[in-house]
Amino acid sequence: MLNEKMVGLGTQRSVIRELFEYGKMRAAEVGAENVFDFSIGNPSVPAPDCVNETVQKLLQSMDPVILHGYTSAQGDAAARQAIADSINRRFGTSFGADNLYITVGAAAALCCCFNGLTCPGDEFIVFAPYFPEYKVFIEGAGARMVLIPADIEAFQIDFEKFEAAINEHTKGVVVNSPNNPSGVVYSEETVKKLAEILNCKSQEYGHPIYLIADEPYREIVFDGTVVPYLPKYYKNTLVCYSWSKSLSLPGERLGYVLVPDEAEDARLVYAAIAGAGRSLGYVCAPSMFQHICAACADETSDISVYETNKNLLLKSLREMGYHVVEPGGTFYMFPRTLEADDVAFCEKAKKYNLLIVPGTGFGCPGHTRISYCVPTERIERSLSAFEALAKEYR
Ligand code: PLP
Repeated sequence: MLNEKMVGLGTQRSVIRELFEYGKMRAAEVGAENVFDFSIGNPSVPAPDCVNETVQKLLQSMDPVILHGYTSAQGDAAARQAIADSINRRFGTSFGADNLYITVGAAAALCCCFNGLTCPGDEFIVFAPYFPEYKVFIEGAGARMVLIPADIEAFQIDFEKFEAAINEHTKGVVVNSPNNPSGVVYSEETVKKLAEILNCKSQEYGHPIYLIADEPYREIVFDGTVVPYLPKYYKNTLVCYSWSKSLSLPGERLGYVLVPDEAEDARLVYAAIAGAGRSLGYVCAPSMFQHICAACADETSDISVYETNKNLLLKSLREMGYHVVEPGGTFYMFPRTLEADDVAFCEKAKKYNLLIVPGTGFGCPGHTRISYCVPTERIERSLSAFEALAKEYR
């Protein structure tokens, strides 16, 4: 007898992975240059020089502990301090090593939070459109995910529906800004209103409602867009970060959870996160990359190609008649589909070897995600396919 839920999770591929695999098969049939694969969010720009330089330096040191050894379960103390220093320089905060728990990417950071916080009957609120793994992570921790429908005009927050969904079981609220899949960044106005409601409701129900800020795209923003730093607006914020996108290092699996001292019962919350990390086996993230990310924490990959792609795609799609909310960051865009059935629309797109992901999986039907972390030349060549698809609906 096996755990049927896990068998299910392990055998069903995500829609994105399914499409990615289909793209590889199609490339073998018609040539890679004829397939416009916008399915997956793998950064397409190299890591900044600082990463390679630090790799070389560490390799030359031949220090077996730094290179390949165990660190403390929560991460090397010097690496955590260097990361805290970088956060403090950028956001005017005063965090230290003990505010950080280093993890294998944002995925593990989120799982540590959900598992560390959940008591029987707890709920976490998530806003559509959302990163589909949240449901897996939240339910895996034994909690219930409560989905708030999207505000499809701006992809900010529908506060009326949000307030109505909060109850005594609400343990936390997950926000992801800049957002996968919409690319939208929450405005300061949205963040202030969110904090106000959370303060009010925490008081009403007599327990803190934690804000879990999932921020792997924090640095990938366009045209001077500012991403408000949430711990400055709401004290019970837990930041889940990752260098997968900002340093183009998704395969190295490095991220962290940040627990501010200002959070209620901060040391207990940190202990619960460390305990969750221990029970899940998420201890001692890869040592060498802890040191590399610490040394490069002020750096970001050259993201200019993402902005070029965003501008080109946005202008072209709008000219063709697609409705698109302009992304403030990430490398995703989330246009409305030209028919209500987004799954049928994306199936039709395959006719033109255009691989785009239906919005339904992100909790937002009637939309499609385009992941444009690809060479600009591929965007240019794909435009005739987007045009041919649009023509079918005129
Ligand atoms: N959160 C969001 C919104 C993401 O898009 C991703 C990855 O694509 C993750 C979390 C997981 O990031 P990581 O690769 O650091 O585990």
